[in-house]
Amino acid sequence: MGLSKTKYGQFGGRFVPETLMEPLLELERAFLAARRDRDFKKELDFYFKNYCGRPTPLYLARNLSRRYGLKVYLKREDLNHTGAHKLNNCLGQALLARRMGKKRLVAETGAGQHGLAVATVAAILNFDCTIYMGERDIKRQSENVRKMELLGAELVEVSAGSKTLKEATSEAMRDWAAHPQDSYYLLGSAVGPHPYPLIVKTFQSVIGLETKKQVLKEEGRLPDYLVACIGGGSNAIGLFYPFLSEDRVRLIGVEAAGKGSSSGHHALSLLRGQTGIFHGAYTRFIQDDEGQVLNSYSISAGLDYPGVGPEIAFLVQKGRIEVSGVTDEEALIAFREIASGEGIIAALESCHALAWLDKHRNFTSDRIAVVNLSGSGLKDLKNREVMDGKKNNE
Ligand SMILES: *Cc1c(COP(=O)(O)O)cnc(C)c1O
Repeated sequence: MGLSKTKYGQFGGRFVPETLMEPLLELERAFLAARRDRDFKKELDFYFKNYCGRPTPLYLARNLSRRYGLKVYLKREDLNHTGAHKLNNCLGQALLARRMGKKRLVAETGAGQHGLAVATVAAILNFDCTIYMGERDIKRQSENVRKMELLGAELVEVSAGSKTLKEATSEAMRDWAAHPQDSYYLLGSAVGPHPYPLIVKTFQSVIGLETKKQVLKEEGRLPDYLVACIGGGSNAIGLFYPFLSEDRVRLIGVEAAGKGSSSGHHALSLLRGQTGIFHGAYTRFIQDDEGQVLNSYSISAGLDYPGVGPEIAFLVQKGRIEVSGVTDEEALIAFREIASGEGIIAALESCHALAWLDKHRNFTSDRIAVVNLSGSGLKDLKNREVMDGKKNNE
C-alpha cells in the first residue's frame, strides 16, 4: 500500500483494537506525506528556531572532562523552551495534527512533563487540549497541574487502578478511539503502535543531526561515545539515529536501576525485562511470570516507565546499542557533580547518562563523549532526596 514498514526485526507492529486501525493508518499516510513536504519542514524549522530556541548548544564541559578523564560535551536540550527535549516531538506532531485538520489534542501524562509540552503547543497552535492524569499524580505534581491549566488545557483526573500513568494512557486512548475525526492523540515517547515510534524518532532526530554538525565543527571528527538515558527511548533514539551507521561511535543507553537491579524497584526493561506486547507494540517490558506488566520505579519520573520503544529494543538485540543501569544514588551523585562543576542543574533523568561516565572513568584521555542533557532539573528541586543529599554535603 506504499506505507512504511511497521517492524524493527521482530519488534514493533500495531497491536491495537479494531477501532484504532483506521486512525493509525490515516496518521501514517499523513506523516509520510508531511515528511516529503518542504513547506512542512520549513514551518517546523521556524518553530524549532524561534520558539524552542534551536539549535541547542553543544557545550564542552571542562570541569566534568577533568573529573571523568575524557572530553565531555553536553548537548543542551535543557535549554529548549519548557526545559526538555519533549517539545521537539510535540511541535512536530502538533503541526502534523493541524495539517490533518484536527481541532483537539489528547494526551496522557505521568509527572506532567509531557502534558506540559502538549499544553504548550496547543496554546501556540490554537488547539483544544485534554490531558489525562492519574489522581495520585495530580496530587504529587500540583505545580505542573497549575501550569497546564494556565496554558488552557483541560485536565481529566483518572481514578481507576493505580491512579497513575498506566490508567491515564488507557483513558486517553479510549478518548481518541471515540473521537478520531476531530482529535489527535499526541504520544510522548518513541513507543506505542506503529507509526508513533517512527514519528517521534523523526522529530527527535534533530538532536543527533545538530550534534553531528556541531562536533565535527569543534573536533573535526565524530565522538567515541554518545550517552543518553532511556525511559521510552525518545531522547536516546533522537541522538543516536543519525549515527547508527557510524560503526566507530559507541552508543550507550542508560536505564534506571532505581534501588538496585535485584531490588525489584527499578525500570530496567532492557536489562531485566522480557518480550511481549505492551501499549500496542511487541517490545521489551518488565513483567511477572504470567506476562502482567510490573510497576516500574525510578527517582526520576521520566524514566519511571515499565517498557521501552521497539526500535531501541531491536538495536540492543543487534548489539548496536549497549545498555547499562544506573541507580538513584549514582544519579544523585552526578546531579551534584554537574551542578557544582558546571553550574547546571540537570534533570535527574539526564544525570543517569552522566553517571555512566562517572562509573567508567578508565578512559583514554583523548576520547570524546557527548552526553544528552535531556532536560533541566529545576522540576526536581522539590524532591526531598535531592535536597537531603545537598544537606549531607554541607
Ligand atoms: C521524559 C523525559 C525523559 C525520558 O523520556 P525518553 O522518551 O526516554 O527520552 C528523559 N529526560 C527528561 C528530561 C524527560 O523529561
